[in-house]
Amino acid sequence: MGVEDTEATTLSELKKLEYLEPPLKKNKLTPNRIANTNAIFDFPKLLNINMVASIIIVSIREIIMIKLDSFSSFFVANWKLNGNFKFIDQFINELKLPEDKSKCVVICPSSIHLDYTIRKKNNFYVGAQNVSQHKEGAYTGEISCDSLSELKIDFCIVGHSERRQIYNETNTDVSLKSFQLINSNIVPIICIGETLEEKEKGKTNDVLVKQLLDGISDTSNSNNTIIAYEPVWAIGTGLTPSLKEIDKTHEFIKTQNSKFNNYKILYGGSVKSNNAKDIVSLSNVDGALVGGASLKSDEFTKIIEY
Ligand code: PEP
Repeated sequence: MGVEDTEATTLSELKKLEYLEPPLKKNKLTPNRIANTNAIFDFPKLLNINMVASIIIVSIREIIMIKLDSFSSFFVANWKLNGNFKFIDQFINELKLPEDKSKCVVICPSSIHLDYTIRKKNNFYVGAQNVSQHKEGAYTGEISCDSLSELKIDFCIVGHSERRQIYNETNTDVSLKSFQLINSNIVPIICIGETLEEKEKGKTNDVLVKQLLDGISDTSNSNNTIIAYEPVWAIGTGLTPSLKEIDKTHEFIKTQNSKFNNYKILYGGSVKSNNAKDIVSLSNVDGALVGGASLKSDEFTKIIEY
């Protein structure tokens, strides 16, 4: 017995065409329809509709973009591939957020836990750990900026050394990802830093300059992008540069090109409760990116309370 014909199974040739056409193309005004449309607004000839739309979009963006300047310091928890729903519940229950609202606390869970963390959020921000450089399309397994936007994610770590080393992420990828993020009003936290070998060869500054110039998109500025200096050899090792070295390197990042003068620069690499205060108080340091120690609510509470 066959299926009874309904409108769905017997689309007329005309309807079939409409059904197959992409919605955008289908909705385009035809000259006939334009002729029958009464203009509500007569835009001056110089201002076409695309220009007006762009102006409105830019203004809305200005309004909803997080004001980085309104914060005195940033504390970013990078949970990497750790945590589950129970862990998140417990962590958020135990975490004590600073009374000083000028401190910006950002928690970056794994992608699968972003939505859950956003729903639990209270006085902290949520960030992603990675994003696709592509807007949409055939990129199996990737996560787009639009999807992060839909979840109301405010920050995204980009170019972490683990992504550069394990997943071969290049400065160009970092720049493209940052570009997409900024377009979606999400603040990229761009990680830069030298390996131990590069440090020992005295190449730290050269490496940083290349990562800054090639990895930071032209649309980046101090209002929409944060830089995190993370010496690769300090990540997860318990080693850190001396306080003087950290301050000098941050000063170098801010001054080697006037473009970066006002950027917020976080330090990352073995930040713990016993060194956070000294590091974050340095005049050229605007906060910390914390890995291992951000997985313990009591330890992270101590780090953010300074
Ligand atoms: C990191 O991975 O970004 C990081 C800073 O890790 P840790 O604090 O564990 O060194």
